[in-house]
Amino acid sequence: MNIHVNEHIKNTVRVFPEEGRYGYLRYDMNENPEGLPKAFVDSVLAEITPEFLSIYPEPTRFLRKYASYIGMNEDEVLVTNGSDMAIRYLLETFGEVGKDVVTVAPSFEMYWVNCRILGLHHVPVPYNDDLTIDIHRIIDAITEDTRIVVLLNPNNPIGNVYTEEEVSLVIERAKEVGAVVIIDEAYHYFYPNTFLGHVRRDGNVIVLRTFSKLFSLAAVRLGVIISNPELIHYVRNARLTFDTNAVALLFGERILDHPEIRDELIRSEEEGKAYILSELNERGYETRDCRGNFIFIRTKRDAGEVEKDLETKKKVLVHPYSNPLLQPFIRVSVGSRNAMQRFLDAFLETDGGDK
Ligand code: PMP
Repeated sequence: MNIHVNEHIKNTVRVFPEEGRYGYLRYDMNENPEGLPKAFVDSVLAEITPEFLSIYPEPTRFLRKYASYIGMNEDEVLVTNGSDMAIRYLLETFGEVGKDVVTVAPSFEMYWVNCRILGLHHVPVPYNDDLTIDIHRIIDAITEDTRIVVLLNPNNPIGNVYTEEEVSLVIERAKEVGAVVIIDEAYHYFYPNTFLGHVRRDGNVIVLRTFSKLFSLAAVRLGVIISNPELIHYVRNARLTFDTNAVALLFGERILDHPEIRDELIRSEEEGKAYILSELNERGYETRDCRGNFIFIRTKRDAGEVEKDLETKKKVLVHPYSNPLLQPFIRVSVGSRNAMQRFLDAFLETDGGDK
């Protein structure tokens, strides 16, 4: 049988995240290793009635609350089924088949995966050998063929951040060629700086936020796109009518009602990060303090072997890399001091450092 399959989709090779992670200590996907306070989760679940579940999702209440939370208007925000879906919508809306999407590489993989699926041309800009990013390399990669430029701030995986001047240079160059600039702020709140101010100053800027990281709601899938009303209007045209589920919207709303939970999550992560970095540095480990909820550790043994041993012998998950610049390191998500103490014990026994 000769069934037609879209060529771009046919030729995309996907690797999906491992499953069966319950019961492990999870430091591999930049989730909160311990999750939200149980009393808060229970109080939200108590609101979920049969009637609630029987009604199609209504996102406006959440959107109004979120817009005022970040000091924007309702027509400047759009909610999506995680940032994952936001990335798909943005590439569909502003991309053009065969034309360029510029990102640094390696970077969050869904940018290049969606380029493949949609037939967009991904232009990867490499890091310098010392893992810094030269903004002029990004600017030089922007040409008349560029439709979209992506900046992750802080960047995943290496955790660097851009200055106001660097971001402004990219935005101005993108304007010259009619490209939009996506600024992915998935790790916002761990890192307080934001480029949200550019949304109103520049007509081509789109900011992404997610509830998967600080807000610890990766399971329910909740992301937000923030841009000017015109660009939001186009993305709204592309969206599925009910792509964000009502349970996610309810959890999102309730967490916005409780800024003290947010503040405690920030405090706890900062404490955990200071603790793990100082414990590792005291033991002579080279670490990289990333500006999101993650760090890099240069392992003494082979990083790939340490990762495997942690998983099989200690039930601890961390993120390894095959890219030659990152291969000597493991990336470890950061949670509370307690979560980091449990990681440290397992890590030192596995990598042979002093206890
Ligand atoms: N953007 C970046 C930079 C990320 O690191 C991630 C998740 N690792 C995402 C987006 C996706 O987030 P979500 O769970 O909202 O799809």
